[in-house]
Amino acid sequence: MKKKYEAMVLSCIDPRFQPIVFNYLKKKNLIGKYSLFSIAGSAIGVTANKFKKWHKVFWENLETSIKLHKIKKLIVINHRDCGAAKILNGKKFFNELNEAKIHKISFLKIKKLFKKKHPKLKIETVLISLNKKVEKF
Ligand SMILES: [Zn+2]
Repeated sequence: MKKKYEAMVLSCIDPRFQPIVFNYLKKKNLIGKYSLFSIAGSAIGVTANKFKKWHKVFWENLETSIKLHKIKKLIVINHRDCGAAKILNGKKFFNELNEAKIHKISFLKIKKLFKKKHPKLKIETVLISLNKKVEKF
């Protein structure tokens, strides 16, 4: 039987979130059906100017997964308390609101670029906390 792949998952390298991301995808019945691209900051890493060198690698990997695995969707999982968001925040006071703003900007940017490149495919963006709370954007 031919396997049916569903999605590429973009997520952060933070060790604390690996089991959380895995369980989130398990609940969605996606185990064995997604390809994974993991990079510091997730959507922040592939959209913020600060990490410009990383952007191209992501988009090329996405292209490859679309070609090889015929995925239909990109699932973007950012997380709370992310080091990459803290780097972008700089010396400003880092609170939940400032943090949410940084994630939101990265989601808007990735959605815009994604829809331009792949208008027929879907994109989903979520922000997960260490206590497993999922915020959809
Ligand atoms: Zn992170």
